[in-house]
Amino acid sequence: MCGVVGVRSRKGVRLSDVISVLQGLQHRGQEASGFAGITVEGGIVSFKDVGLVAEVFNRYKKDPLLKAAVAHTRYSTHGESYRPENVQPFVGFINGKMIALVHNGNLTNYAEIKAELQRQGVVFRSTSDSEVLLLMYAKETGDPTERLEKIYRKVEGAWTVLLLDGDEIVAFRDGYGFRPLWMGRRGDEVWFASEDSALRQAGVDVVREVERAEGIIVGDGEKNFRFEVKESLPCSFELVYFARPDSKIFGRSVYEWRLIAGEILAEVDGIGGDVVVPVPDSGTIYAIGYSRKSGIPFQMGLIRSHYAGRSFIQPSQDMRRRTVRAKLFPVSYVLKGKRVILVDDSLVRGTTMGEIVKMVREAGAKEVHVRIGSPPVISPCYFGIDTPTKGELAAARMSLRRITEFIGADTLLYLPLERYKRELPSFCHMCFTGEYRVKVPTTSQPL
Ligand code: SF4
Repeated sequence: MCGVVGVRSRKGVRLSDVISVLQGLQHRGQEASGFAGITVEGGIVSFKDVGLVAEVFNRYKKDPLLKAAVAHTRYSTHGESYRPENVQPFVGFINGKMIALVHNGNLTNYAEIKAELQRQGVVFRSTSDSEVLLLMYAKETGDPTERLEKIYRKVEGAWTVLLLDGDEIVAFRDGYGFRPLWMGRRGDEVWFASEDSALRQAGVDVVREVERAEGIIVGDGEKNFRFEVKESLPCSFELVYFARPDSKIFGRSVYEWRLIAGEILAEVDGIGGDVVVPVPDSGTIYAIGYSRKSGIPFQMGLIRSHYAGRSFIQPSQDMRRRTVRAKLFPVSYVLKGKRVILVDDSLVRGTTMGEIVKMVREAGAKEVHVRIGSPPVISPCYFGIDTPTKGELAAARMSLRRITEFIGADTLLYLPLERYKRELPSFCHMCFTGEYRVKVPTTSQPL
């Protein structure tokens, strides 16, 4: 998962404004960030590094006035994490003109395309699939629309991209519409960002979502183009977990969806309990919905630390345990002697939930009933979300009874898959169904 930002302005926009929007997308990626731009005088500027947006741009220490720029915050789904050469934007030159690309998504036929390009003598500097897009764009001929059309015919998978081509910005979403992209305006500035909330917080008026298979080119004028759409597959996990609750994604309010999902859980549940407790922050809105529907009081039985920092790769069970305990603190005043309905958005490996259930019990809970606001995740995602391999997914290798025992809960209930699909038609549910509707890589290919 990543966050992308682009802007074009005749009078110029400060880099600090671009950074503000990028910071509004920090939740979409915390590994690395960067930008590339053209100044109002025509100079080329770029900077990227490993780290949070604020950390990276504190190292840059300049605030140029930009005519056009793209920026990116990275969470690796393809290409090794924390490797500087995989940090975006990817920058190149065509006849002395800079092109720079930022990408959210994963190309599922990346390996074939890369092999083909290598046979033609193209040299890669990274292991990221996003570089393939830049090199294909540079290699094709014609105007931006013609170049993208040729790429569109060859590339499979998820690709929301922003391209800086000279001093023009080209915005494009793949034909399935896996990843979001919004357009906004402020004065003479035209903006693009992964989520509308990030634009609004920077004082940009939100215009609309870019459609799937739609491209928008913004220079001194504006031009739209559309290719033939494919099956509608916007990622439902954006609503479940990734997007900010104050965002609207694929026409739906993220907050409203989480509330509805919590209500559905309460509707299909017959357990009863004394208190509804969210796993903060991911389960909070679901728990509000559950409480509202069931009439069982909502309480913050777990407090989240704002100072615990980021959790990096957790190689051992003991480190995972320590990370959870450094982040979440149980409130025995709320939990002691209670039948607790513990609510979260999703259950992937089950190891974190197991630790949380243990903490809730240690704080005196009489019973712990875990309720999950999405269906069981049974298959990996190949379209831009870093889910574990099938063997690590709790629901892919264990029965409901075994997972309940594994996490140490009294009972476990997921949002029913059929209901989820009915409520979110025309969305991607592939990690919940295991039925891939788009060609996915074979295991021999790197992902
Ligand atoms: S497989 Fe799951 S996580 Fe991946 S795009 Fe589809 S819904 Fe989203």
